[in-house]
Order: sequence, then C-alpha cells, then structure tokens
Amino acid sequence: MKENIQKLRTYSYKDIDIIPQLKQFSAQEILAMKSVAQVIPFRTNNYVVEQLIDWDNIPDDPIFRLTFPQPEMLSRENFERIAKLLEENTSQAVMKQAVDKIRSTLNPHPDGQKNYNVPKFHSGTVRGVQHKYPETVLVFPSAGQTCHAYCTFCFRWPQFINLGDLKFATRESGDFQNYIQEHKEITDVLLTGGDPMTMKAWQLALYLEPLLGPDFEHIQNIRIGTKSLSYWPYRYVTDPDADEILALFEKIVSAGKHLAIMAHFNHWKELETPVVQEAIRRIRSTGACIRTQSPLVNHINNLEKVWVKMWKKQVKLGCIPYYMFVERQTGAKNYFEIPIFRAWEIFQGAIQKVSGLSRTVRGPVMSALPGKIIIDGIAEINNEKVFVLSFLQARNPDWCKRPFFAKFDPESTWLTTLKPAFGKEKFFFDSALEEMKINKQLQLSQAIK
Ligand SMILES: *Cc1c(COP(=O)(O)O)cnc(C)c1O
Ligand code: SF4
Repeated sequence: MKENIQKLRTYSYKDIDIIPQLKQFSAQEILAMKSVAQVIPFRTNNYVVEQLIDWDNIPDDPIFRLTFPQPEMLSRENFERIAKLLEENTSQAVMKQAVDKIRSTLNPHPDGQKNYNVPKFHSGTVRGVQHKYPETVLVFPSAGQTCHAYCTFCFRWPQFINLGDLKFATRESGDFQNYIQEHKEITDVLLTGGDPMTMKAWQLALYLEPLLGPDFEHIQNIRIGTKSLSYWPYRYVTDPDADEILALFEKIVSAGKHLAIMAHFNHWKELETPVVQEAIRRIRSTGACIRTQSPLVNHINNLEKVWVKMWKKQVKLGCIPYYMFVERQTGAKNYFEIPIFRAWEIFQGAIQKVSGLSRTVRGPVMSALPGKIIIDGIAEINNEKVFVLSFLQARNPDWCKRPFFAKFDPESTWLTTLKPAFGKEKFFFDSALEEMKINKQLQLSQAIK
C-alpha cells in the first residue's frame, strides 16, 4: 500500500487529459467525459485515483462511477449538444449558456431547501443556516462548501464556493452563534457542506470552540457531516494540521459534548485501505463517535450484498450505521435513481443478514419537503397493495411515527409521485403543509423587502 502518498493532488476538469490512469481511454471517450464534466462538476484526487478505483474494472468500478462523469448521466440530446460545442471549440459564453440551460433543468435546490428552511434572526435571514427540525440546526460554513472530490450524483454544487477569509468566517460564525444562543430548543448543531472537513483546523475551531462556552449549555451534540474519510483520510493522519484536528475533537469531548462524525460512505471499497482504517482509529481515540450514512444509488451500490458488507465492515471498525437514503431528485437522476420498492427490497434483504449492531441503520429514507419519511414496508390491506410509510423527522414534530399509506407504485422514485391509498385525496399532513408553504413564502417576501 502506498502509505507514503500524503500530499493532496486535486484533479479538476482541465486535468482530465493528464490523469495517468486515463491513458487507457480513447480520444473519443475522453471527449465524452469532458463534455459531461462541463455540466456535472468534476473533481477527483490522487488518493481516489491511485487507491480506491480498480482500473481493471472500468467502467463498472463503483468508485469510478462515483467520481468520473459518464455520457449516460446526461440525456442523449444534451450530451450531443455539449460534445459538439466542445469539439467546435466554441466560445466560453456560448458554452456557458448551453450548460446553464441544462443545469437549470436538473433541479439544483431540491425540496424547498432554499426557501423554506432558512431561519430569520431579528430582521434578516441567517446566512448559511438551515433550521427545519426544532432540535437540530444545520450550519454551512462558507469555507467548507467544497469537497476533496465530487460525487457525480451530487447537486449541491450551486453552493460550492470558496470564501475562506478570516473576516468573513468570523462574522458568519458570530451570526449563527447569536441565532443558536436565542433558540434554547436546539440541542444539536450539524456542520455540513460541501464538506466542513476541507477547512483548516483553525477555521473549524472558529465555528466549534464558542459552542463549548457557558452560553451554549443547551447544545449537547455536535455533528460534522463529511466525506473526508472516503476521499481524503489523510486529513486525520498526515495532513499538516491533522493533530490539531484531533486535539480539537478531544477538546469538544472533554467539554462534555457528544461529538459525532457523520461519515458519508457509499461502498465498502472506501473502508479497505490502511489509511482510512488508521483515520477511523485516530478519530475514535479522541472520544468522538463515527456514524455512517449513504444514499442508495443506481450503478454504485444498488446491490444488497454491497450494503451487507459495508455495514458489517463499519461495525467491525467501530462505526455506527445511521441512515440509508433514497437518492434525491436532483442532478443526473435518471441515471442514479432507484424505484422506492426496489430501495425497500434492498434494505430488507440486507438488514436481515447483519447482527443487531448494524441494525441501528434506518432506511430507506426520503429527506423530502415535509420531513424525513421512511419506507417501513409493502403490505396488502383490504386487497390493496400499499407502501407503509412514516416520518422520522417532520416539520410538525407531531407527524412522527404515525403510519400512513400510499398506493403501491412500482415506478415511483420519490414522495412527489406517490398517491394516497384507499381512494383518499390527500395524505394526512398535506393541508397543514400547504398552509406552512403559504406562510413561509409570505415571511420570505417580507424579508426580501
Ligand atoms: C436529517 C436532517 C437533520 C437531522 O435529523 P436527525 O434525525 O436528528 O438525524 C436535521 N436537519 C435537516 C434539514 C435534516 O435533513
Ligand atoms: S461529498 Fe457530499 S457534498 Fe461533496 S460532492 Fe459528494 S455528495 Fe456532494
């Protein structure tokens, strides 16, 4: 194993030609990759290319599909349009127009993220904060809105910016602290991105250390959502500030908080290298725990056995499986999506093959506009085949754990195409949700004024 690779080398769109492992591709195939990478942001790095991808298994290797754009991720028509423009060496302006047009059809802000979850503080909105469920606030530090590599199924990239300067981060962290201080119902702060672990230790400290003070006794749990264990485990082992990161984790734990690293793993292959195992060991030695989550994605982890092996491996390494998500309705969704009934079959098939220590995982879960909805099962009631659903988290907490039913539909891939069962017109929460939408929109337009 190449334990000596420690320095991050990032490859972006313009480096597709120079990645040595891509020499096996024809000029035509490279052009195809470059065309898709115009629309779906591309970034990978030396660890992913040299240690995760099996180059003897292309294009089926799951990690290859996870970070390298494939022609099928765009519709044929869109793909051909971009490939043609690229071949003609068209002007940047024309290319940008074509790309923007395609991107706008790919729904970059799913499920009301932009409009309905942004909290207000005094007169303005709080930048970089989402507060959907009472006890947990999401924080998006500006300097952490990028990742060590990009997943091809991700469409968070409209927020992939880089505003790393000290003044901005300080002001921003001040804003969210003020908000949290006034909201005593909040017990959990979840730092997310992009990937907050792309930040330097001092930047991370700017957001987290204040929460250890006396004004934040209501904050019990600090979570950091990250893909760094998969894409750059050296973050915790050999990066120049790796030890500083671990010291910060220790400090949080000694202050009496529960620190949870919410690690995004899509495949057991990401758990095999010596360096990821060392990173997990080092994080756990600080007293932090690691919980794992992943979407179920076609072409990458759409097999029961992949989940069985992944969960077992995670538990063996001391990680706690947490969520299996249904892939969101964004990005190259036709390529990645899986019908809800298949998602349930895969979950049900996998969960029965692992011990109770892996059964902490909940799924398949749709994180949708009204809340986090779990597909509990498929049943036949009064001769009607139905999905049994319930909320794990809801905009109105009282909706949680109340079973509800949708008509079975073998094609449906998301809540928005499900119909209530038993001839009903609406789900039990629909009217209340409509009202919330109207009210929130009113508030939002007032804030803009
Ligand atoms: C998933 C999620 C959370 C956290 O929910 P838990 O059930 O506490 O893990 C918080 N806010 C938003 C917007 C979420 O989607
Ligand atoms: S790690 Fe998360 S935010 Fe980053 S590209 Fe992948 S899915 Fe998107």
